Amino acid sequence: MPKLIPRLPSTNSHLPFGDMQNSPFYGIDIITVKQFDREQLTYIFEVAHEMYEMVSRVGSFDLLKGKILANLFYQPSTRTSSSFTSAMERLGGSVIPINNVSYSSVTKGESLPDTIRTLEAFADVIVLRHPEVGSSALAAKYARKPIINAGDGVGEHPTQALLDLFTIHEELGRVDGITVTMMGDLKYGRTVHSLARLLSLYNVKLNYVAPENLCLPDEIKAEIGTKGIPQDCFADLTPVLPETDVLYVTRVQKEYFEDPAQHESLKGSYVITTETMRQAKSKMVLMHPFPRVWEIDMAVDADPRAAYFRQMEYGLYIRMALLAMVLGKA
Ligand code: ASP
Repeated sequence: MPKLIPRLPSTNSHLPFGDMQNSPFYGIDIITVKQFDREQLTYIFEVAHEMYEMVSRVGSFDLLKGKILANLFYQPSTRTSSSFTSAMERLGGSVIPINNVSYSSVTKGESLPDTIRTLEAFADVIVLRHPEVGSSALAAKYARKPIINAGDGVGEHPTQALLDLFTIHEELGRVDGITVTMMGDLKYGRTVHSLARLLSLYNVKLNYVAPENLCLPDEIKAEIGTKGIPQDCFADLTPVLPETDVLYVTRVQKEYFEDPAQHESLKGSYVITTETMRQAKSKMVLMHPFPRVWEIDMAVDADPRAAYFRQMEYGLYIRMALLAMVLGKA
């Protein structure tokens, strides 16, 4: 009698049971933006475009029919979690949602590697958000199925950065030659850490606007500096606003502050208003990974340069592309 579940090879190659594919993305983990080059980014954007076309034409289709995604979130999420669910379902696949680990075996003390090895028995790909830097890399060490990092503490948020870059590309028609100003909590903001690194593959100028103690970590600045990217830090938006092509605003990340009083004193540091927009370029793109708390006045939403809701939709097509790619269908 053959065993129903044969003993699996003890490799971490993510190689398949069944359909062997030729795609260079097949079976890979998406852990950090550092793993991508420009050619790959162009390819991801092409696939994302195809996803947009298909969704516009038919809504959903069966590319990943029969495939299952485990959505494992140890930190809160609205956009990342629901856009991965939507992406998987629009591709005909299905989702195991674990959005509240307090109802899972994690509260009984289960380790991340054990949770991952459990879920991969049931799913074909795992999306993971976790409060610790390096958690996705750790999960990938144990997993045979692809792991997609949906945020590892203050580390990285690679799929957000891919959708941010795609937004810039779609809104401006180019990435080379632009000035991007990142404003807010650049110290703890993982979306900023990933996006700044990704932008350093292009010919851009980066401005950082933040209170002194929330500036981009030195090691990330040094990393970007090695690519020859001009970078400057400012305490105020005013001097750089007129030259800015993309203004990327983030919230002050309350959950990472040890001292609530310090968060209180910094949280309203910068607010974008209609007056700010009057001084900005007529084609500037205003972005925010959301949730926004105080940083952008709702009156700004009506301005056509406010791209943050479109940014969310671009995320759907990027995440559809990534799922199809790592599952060998694109
Ligand atoms: N949603 C983004 C993240 O998970 C940004 C934020 O939370 O402010 O990092």
